[in-house]
Amino acid sequence: MRFTDLIEKKKNQQQLTEAEIKWLIENYLTENVADYQMASMLMAIWFNGMTDEETAILTKTYVESGITYDVSDIVGFKADKHSTGGVGDKTTLVFAPLVASYGIKVCKLSGRGLGQTGGTIDKLESFPGWKSEISDQEFKEVINKVGMSLMSQSQGLVPADKKIYALRDVTGTVDSIPLIAASIMSKKLVIENDSLILDVKMGNGAFMKTLAEAEKLAQAMIGIAKQYNRQIAIMITDMNKPLGKAIGNALEVKEAWDSLNGQGPEDFNELVATAVAITLVQAKLFKNFDQAYQSVCQKMQSGETAHIFKEFVEAQHGDFSVIENYEKHFSVNNTLEIKAMDSGYVSYTNANELGLLSMRLGAGRATKEDSIDFAAGIYLNADSGSFVNKGDVIMTLYTNKDIDPCWIDMAYQTFVLSKKQTKTPVILKIIK
Ligand code: URA
Repeated sequence: MRFTDLIEKKKNQQQLTEAEIKWLIENYLTENVADYQMASMLMAIWFNGMTDEETAILTKTYVESGITYDVSDIVGFKADKHSTGGVGDKTTLVFAPLVASYGIKVCKLSGRGLGQTGGTIDKLESFPGWKSEISDQEFKEVINKVGMSLMSQSQGLVPADKKIYALRDVTGTVDSIPLIAASIMSKKLVIENDSLILDVKMGNGAFMKTLAEAEKLAQAMIGIAKQYNRQIAIMITDMNKPLGKAIGNALEVKEAWDSLNGQGPEDFNELVATAVAITLVQAKLFKNFDQAYQSVCQKMQSGETAHIFKEFVEAQHGDFSVIENYEKHFSVNNTLEIKAMDSGYVSYTNANELGLLSMRLGAGRATKEDSIDFAAGIYLNADSGSFVNKGDVIMTLYTNKDIDPCWIDMAYQTFVLSKKQTKTPVILKIIK
């Protein structure tokens, strides 16, 4: 096989065969196909797309490029969830304990944040001592003991995706639906869970900017899951506004803890309860969604499942007491209140900018090498859709850095105050 023949085919919108896709990926990994050649292939894919069959083969080739996790000896229904990435998205921290409280096992690999989006592993590292790099054995022990465990994606996980993602990042080819679908699904398929609930974010803080694009991505991922006989459901959710009120690692952990204790923000609670209820129906514990949803809301209200989160953190060596004594452990040198210049109904319109601002405050990484400040971040004091008077606090910025005046301009770019109340639903569509 020659690379030039394959690129000619893709350029001319012909379908690549299984053997050709495998050859391409294997030879890229062994450096017989060069970066510049792969870059041209990725751009041809960006323009001409891939058929469902090609996307499924690419996913399979990615999965086969690295290690897989055998969880077959864990007894019970195993559920997974994934989000395509958003600002303030701490869903996993509440989803997993709730699901585990029904006897379902959550065996999940999670990632770190980069740029404006946060990562679950970083959030959990707000607990001093919490370990994400645990052995397969310990992973299973924690799951069997607590019902859930999260570990970080190891170096050997889907190396083909890792190498190609890095190239996509610098060649303008990240936002290709088949490439995103194969990349995300390959990392979900390395653990043989029974079900998957996928949260596809849509809006200016997400990869997918429109509902139509988000639906296309959802369909591509459903196509892949079907090939693997994996139960899948997709929620398309709003990411013009951050999820919940807290952005930043410890702030988000605190919000997740509040939510598990019946005190979470409305939009966040609704999204989590929906994801859990869908999972319960997938596991056949409830016949219909409404009954499952009611049961989940009742558990969130009563706070009866919160202890599972604490047990999980402690089982992975984290000091949980820091969240119970939040002010003592996560105080910052500087807080800055952003106040309403006028009266009106608040509407957050720029999750992306809020994510970037949070990163500048110290909560995120601009490059992979940056360290993060767990206490830094933003709290949205005013609810979306609420009425504020001139001078009311809209949001508070928390940082240990010296205050940069441009942060104030950034903050004012992220919301509008209107005469008319508008409220966007958090869940835009569910596809099962
Ligand atoms: N997340 C991934 O893991 N891969 C993509 O391509 C996009 C988002």
